[in-house]
Amino acid sequence: MTALEARARQSLLARREQLVELAATRGERRLVELLHRVDAALGALEVGTWGLCAVCHEPMDPARLAADPLVRVCLECLPDEERRALERDLEAAARTQRALLPASRTQRAGWEIAYLWEPHGAVSGDHVDLFGASRPGEPLYLLLGDVSGKGLGASLLQAHLNALFRALAASDPPLGELVGRANRLFADATTASRYATLVALRLDAEGGVELANAGHPRPLLADARGVRPIEGGGLPLGLVCDTTFPAHRLVLQEGETLLLYTDGWTEAERDEEEFGIGRAAAALRRAAARPLDELLAACRDEADAFLAGARRGDDRTLVAVRRQPQRP
Ligand SMILES: [Zn+2]
Repeated sequence: MTALEARARQSLLARREQLVELAATRGERRLVELLHRVDAALGALEVGTWGLCAVCHEPMDPARLAADPLVRVCLECLPDEERRALERDLEAAARTQRALLPASRTQRAGWEIAYLWEPHGAVSGDHVDLFGASRPGEPLYLLLGDVSGKGLGASLLQAHLNALFRALAASDPPLGELVGRANRLFADATTASRYATLVALRLDAEGGVELANAGHPRPLLADARGVRPIEGGGLPLGLVCDTTFPAHRLVLQEGETLLLYTDGWTEAERDEEEFGIGRAAAALRRAAARPLDELLAACRDEADAFLAGARRGDDRTLVAVRRQPQRP
C-alpha cells in the first residue's frame, strides 16, 4: 500500500466512524448513501482499484485524491458543466487565499520581512500571516503554516487556522500558550487525518524574537557565526489536544536574518534524493548578506537547480526576517 493509499484509508476510516455515529442518531438517507460511498472506497483500496477513474480507468491526480479520497472520476472525464463549476470554485478559492496574504515585502517595527509563496496547484496548504505592531510597543506576529494535504480542503483549514491565531493573539498571551490554545481549538475543528505544522514568531522592536515551533521544519538563523537551525519544538497542530509548545528566545543583531520555509523547499526530490537541510543551509550562507528579495530568489534557485527540471511536488514558501539597522 502506498503512502497516499495509507493516508486515504486512515481518512476514510475516520470519516466512516463519524458517519456511523451520525446515521445512528439521525437516520438520514443522505448520510447512509455517503456511508455506502465510503465503504465502496475502502473496498476499492482492498482490491487495488482505488484511485483509478471510473470512466477511463486511468490513475487520477494524487493531489486531488489526497484532498478527497472519495473522488471517482478524473477531471478529463467529468461532464463539461461539472468541470467548469469545479474550475470556477477553485479560481474563487485561489483569489480568496491570495487576498489573505500580507504584502510580499514589509518594513515594520524595526524588522524587514519578505517572502516567496509558490503553490503547487491553484491553491496552497501553505500560508503566511503578519499582524500586530499597529501601535509603538506592540509585538509583531509572523506565522508560517503548512496544512497536511493539498487543494481546497487544505487551503480552507489554513485560513481557519490563521483566523484562530489572530483572534487569540488579541489578548497577547505568552507565545507558547498562544500556540497551545490554537492547537486545542484546531484539534476540535479537524478530523483525525488532518494536521498542520507551523512556526510562530513574536517580534519586538529591540530585536527580540520569541519562536514557537509546532512540528515544522527547523528555521535557519544566519548570523555572524554562520548558519544554523533553531532546534526544539512541539508536535504538529491538531494531533492531540493537551500538549505544550515551549517558546525559544533569541535576539537578532542588525542585519541578521531568520529564514522560515516549508518542506516543499528542503524536501524537493530528484532521483529519490532530497535537496535537504545541508544544501539549504549552504544556499542561505552564500546569500545571507544580500537584500532579502535576492536572498529568497537565490535560495529558491538553488533548489530548482538541484531539481534539474524534475517536477516540484509540493507547495513551497520561503520567509526571510531581518533586523533593520537602528537609526540613532
Ligand atoms: Zn477518466
